Amino acid sequence: MRFRCSLCQQHYPLHTREWRCSRCQSPFELDQSFAFKRSKIDKRVTTLWRYRAMLPELKEKNIVSLGEGWTPLVEAVIEGRRILCKLDYFSPTGSFKDRGTTVLVSFLKELGIETVVEDSSGNAAASLASYCARAGIKTKIFAPADASPAKLAQIKIFGAELCPIEGPREKSAKAAQAVAKEFYYASHVYNPIWLEGIKTYAYELWEQLDGKAPDAMVAPAGHGSLVRGAYKGFAELQSAGLIKRIPRLYAVQAEIVAPLYKAWTKKLDQLQDYWRHNLVDLLPGQTFSTIAEGIAVSRPPHWAKILHFIRDTGGSVVTVSDKEILRARNAMAHQGLFIEPSSAAAIAGLSKLKDQIKPRDLVVVLLTGSGLKSSTILS
Ligand SMILES: [Zn+2]
Repeated sequence: MRFRCSLCQQHYPLHTREWRCSRCQSPFELDQSFAFKRSKIDKRVTTLWRYRAMLPELKEKNIVSLGEGWTPLVEAVIEGRRILCKLDYFSPTGSFKDRGTTVLVSFLKELGIETVVEDSSGNAAASLASYCARAGIKTKIFAPADASPAKLAQIKIFGAELCPIEGPREKSAKAAQAVAKEFYYASHVYNPIWLEGIKTYAYELWEQLDGKAPDAMVAPAGHGSLVRGAYKGFAELQSAGLIKRIPRLYAVQAEIVAPLYKAWTKKLDQLQDYWRHNLVDLLPGQTFSTIAEGIAVSRPPHWAKILHFIRDTGGSVVTVSDKEILRARNAMAHQGLFIEPSSAAAIAGLSKLKDQIKPRDLVVVLLTGSGLKSSTILS
């Protein structure tokens, strides 16, 4: 198995310290996919490691697990519609990122990495800090200075070195990338091993729905890893002949930071040379403020792939305002589910999808982060 540039196809060994293609700066992907086999699920294991046979090969002693995955699937009713919610905030650090982190940190342990650097709006960094503490790996985190205080505190409690960066989320990324020659860049955005963990939520849904896939999946999207992970996981199930089609994938963005939505409405992904377009012109010189800080990403590197997956499945991209997000957050709280605003964005998106989701569709919404992480609890 090797990394491969998603654009020019150049190969790199798994132990490379490059974090994206040195020739064309495009993100890596894995050069191999995994054959899903029902008989290979280890049903004694109640974490995502039950799918170990469908994950990159790792020695048992290097697996760093804190009990992540196999999260509950519960019903909720939004504007009269019954939906199923995948409670991925039932994760060791309170967010779905633990799925990717457990696989990535296990991989880093296998490589013998001693210090890592990462940037994040909060959840990915808190997750990495936790798993690295467990693995005995030193962690240096660059995060926006105005990230949720609860998330910043969470990063620190695990003993990570926290470097707050003023300005938009992208500045934290640049700061981390500037020291990526010195330390391993354990990026949840760029490292394809991380995505292997995320795809397991598709496997879980298939098991929890008695061997079915939902008709539609709705997820918040910043870097779009849930869309990419869902597509990968369901595509593997489809290749194994276990589902007929990949669910329609719907991505929900915050109105004020919506590059995927803008690219979608301009059909940029359908241009012949779409992958050469960057998203710089879509959001010129803005500073952003949204309560959905977890998805406030102005230039997601995988944007073209994300839109391709959404189009391929018959889904779409919609946006929601902060007011709509808070209303959705409260509607969920009134049903006993306390989620952070970035998660509530997906719930708010449902009302924008009324003409695209049919009444009989089986709809699953991914609830990504706990409300306890939010700094807008009383809004
Ligand atoms: Zn390349």
